[in-house]
Amino acid sequence: MSALIKDKILKIDGSTGEGGGQIIRTALALSMLTGTPIEITNIRAGRAKPGLMRQHLMCVRASQEIANAEVSGAHLGSLAFKFAPKEIVSGDYTFDIGSAGSTSLVLQTILPALLFANTEGAVNTKESANIASHGVSTVTIKGGTHNPFSPTTDFLQQAFIPAVAKLGMQVAIELKQAGFAPIGGGEIAVTVQPFLRRADAPPFKLTERGALQGVTLVASNLNLDHDICQRELASATASLVEAGVDTSLITSKSSKLHGIGEGNTCYAVIEHKLAGDVDSDVDSETRSSHLHVEVFTLLGEKHTSAEKMGNRLAGLVKRYLLQSDALVDEYLTDQLLLPLALSGGGEFSTRMISQHTETQAWLIEQFLPVEISFERIGENKTLVKVVC
Ligand code: ATP
Repeated sequence: MSALIKDKILKIDGSTGEGGGQIIRTALALSMLTGTPIEITNIRAGRAKPGLMRQHLMCVRASQEIANAEVSGAHLGSLAFKFAPKEIVSGDYTFDIGSAGSTSLVLQTILPALLFANTEGAVNTKESANIASHGVSTVTIKGGTHNPFSPTTDFLQQAFIPAVAKLGMQVAIELKQAGFAPIGGGEIAVTVQPFLRRADAPPFKLTERGALQGVTLVASNLNLDHDICQRELASATASLVEAGVDTSLITSKSSKLHGIGEGNTCYAVIEHKLAGDVDSDVDSETRSSHLHVEVFTLLGEKHTSAEKMGNRLAGLVKRYLLQSDALVDEYLTDQLLLPLALSGGGEFSTRMISQHTETQAWLIEQFLPVEISFERIGENKTLVKVVC
């Protein structure tokens, strides 16, 4: 997608729908991709502390750098800013949020642009000497890797990346250092291959669950007692077994994170076959395209016991496994809309449509000629269709 620069400014009311930070990130991504100058007002009006926080400001600065944009009015706490992109340039970038702000959310902002950056556009710029060949980008982002109310690096690696890989988007994320609030100090290294839509690509369809392949429980600590992980895993496992989940499908593992500060996370990775798929004897890459993976994450909190954490994690798994037969869950739902709208569309079933997802759909439709619909097809099951 080449950025045809447009003159008319698209005004976006940041208080629409959920009125949160997602409007800024998605608007920046789509502004860069479509070459549309934007003005966002009422920034994060739906939040207790409105305006641009450090993470959002980094999203603006990072977008400014990769799209050589003209920006006015963007500073900490600002309630409105203007952003006018030029050409998106692939290359090697480093962004330091300077706090424990979420590296994942900065990546979420610039990833679509970097997937569509190409050398064709880039060679026309003065900076062409800095451009990696074939539009490959490498991005280092420093800040928080395990933040509340954001995807953790684990979620991106194990749920988001495999899902967009089904669209042919190739992204690799390496966790260099873990970073938890309040200190941060985390770092991720990301490689983004330029996206080329294959004419023979199968339609994206994640509608029916096949057999459950496994539930992997993972607990990780940063500079905390290893015993915490063991206790989280033991209580999560016990709770799942008690609920009737087949013991032979449950595995658990603990790991030690590296970085400064302290932190704990536990998460569950749930794999389902896609309905109608019978093959099992295939290599791991092919295998992953026949599976759907959901990840549920918790972050350790002071004054919450490891046992309580394990139980809560099991609660998230049970809600997904037992209360719905949709394939996709709440967070991946809002995160998949934009990649689908940019790559020909598709459909999937979800357990839940959040206000976040509805706001995301509204915003995408402001920029792109796509139709995003939600059709309730059962209890706790909605069919999401993105038609381009
Ligand atoms: P604000 O501070 O205005 O709330 P924000 O910038 O922190 O905004 P949101 O607008 O709340 O961010 O968007 C959060 C993003 O993080 C969404 O894409 C959502 O899917 C994702 N997210 C939140 N919690 C989780 C989680 N537990 N696992 C995976 N993704 C998550």
